[in-house]
Amino acid sequence: MTQTMKAAVLHRLRAPLTIEDLPVPAPGPGDLLIKVTACGVCHSDLHAVDGDWTPPPVLPLIPGHEVVGTVARLGPGVSGFAEGEEVGVPWMFSACGRCEFCLAGMETVCPAGEATGYTRPGGYAEYMLAPAAFVGKLAPGADPYAMAPILCAGVTTYRGLKRSMARPGQWVAVIGIGGLGHIAVQYARAMGLRVAAVDVAEDKLALARALGAEVTVNGAQADAVAALRTATGGVHGAVVTAVAPRAFEQALLMLRLGGAAVYIGLPGGKGDEIRASLAAIINGELTIRGSNVGTRQDLNEAIAFAANGLVKATVRTEPLSAINTVLDEMRRGAIVGRVVLKIA
Ligand code: NAD
Ligand code: ZN
Ligand code: ZN
Repeated sequence: MTQTMKAAVLHRLRAPLTIEDLPVPAPGPGDLLIKVTACGVCHSDLHAVDGDWTPPPVLPLIPGHEVVGTVARLGPGVSGFAEGEEVGVPWMFSACGRCEFCLAGMETVCPAGEATGYTRPGGYAEYMLAPAAFVGKLAPGADPYAMAPILCAGVTTYRGLKRSMARPGQWVAVIGIGGLGHIAVQYARAMGLRVAAVDVAEDKLALARALGAEVTVNGAQADAVAALRTATGGVHGAVVTAVAPRAFEQALLMLRLGGAAVYIGLPGGKGDEIRASLAAIINGELTIRGSNVGTRQDLNEAIAFAANGLVKATVRTEPLSAINTVLDEMRRGAIVGRVVLKIA
């Protein structure tokens, strides 16, 4: 008899997910079958459901890419893992390992890469498959609910901060204090950076202050850029995790001469373009860099920060059956920190 599992499935863009009984998949060569304990709800899942990006996700889709679970079964040829071991699955489901980008340590942009919960079934389910080579090892006994957001929000903002080139003692602006941003504040503090937090919601700015932001600015106010520049003298780096193009424009205006803005948020659709002054960029020797999740090494480093207690996601747990309500809350910008689905 085939074993079945509960999963939340998207059949049509912008439609509610449906909870279904599906067969537990069998691990092929190189795969792990993972029993999912927890899966964070990232705004990228909402972009997938709403069809904000091109190309759209592969339907029917089981979303979810902040996965923490345990190894249930090893596929043929897998070594280095044991049944019951705690593991995590990130957005980067796989990369080819052979292209010029993979070979240069940029597997994050591999053109043949697959994405968990977008092109491949993700973690809004009791079981999922993932190639062992791309699965992260977690510290035994780690809190699975606090750890889940590290698999995307954590690794992504950690790499983004590294790509800002800001050094200990310097200022970094974290723009957008949602699931990603509230964790970015903590990585930045752990990396010795001074943090100015920007959001359009006061409850999110309060969380940023509690997590160590020295300066908080409401980006909806007309003088947000001036307020931040007065408080910091201009930031050396900015990481933008907001979902509005205005925030990406503000980031450039907040930079100190020679500073770098790292773009992480992906509004998609009509929000995909910004206006910027070429003169300000050129004369100020500013840098704009995109940052796309993280390599396996970034993931291991990001997990180590959390395992050592330097970073801890602020989470609220919900059952899988609440997923549509959670996505609605996210559409309204009403989530403080991260919601994590409690699956096992
Ligand atoms: P979230 O909904 O939890 O947080 C977004 C935050 O942005 C909210 O706190 C909201 O109040 C704030 N915000 C909205 N407009 C703003 C503005 N004008 N100025 C300042 N703040 C503003 O979302 P999340 O899960 O943190 O994801 C954020 C974005 O990052 C999404 O677009 C997601 O798809 C993207 N993302 C990118 C990568 C990557 O690798 N580049 C990885 C993960 C997520
Ligand atoms: Zn994500
Ligand atoms: Zn490749």
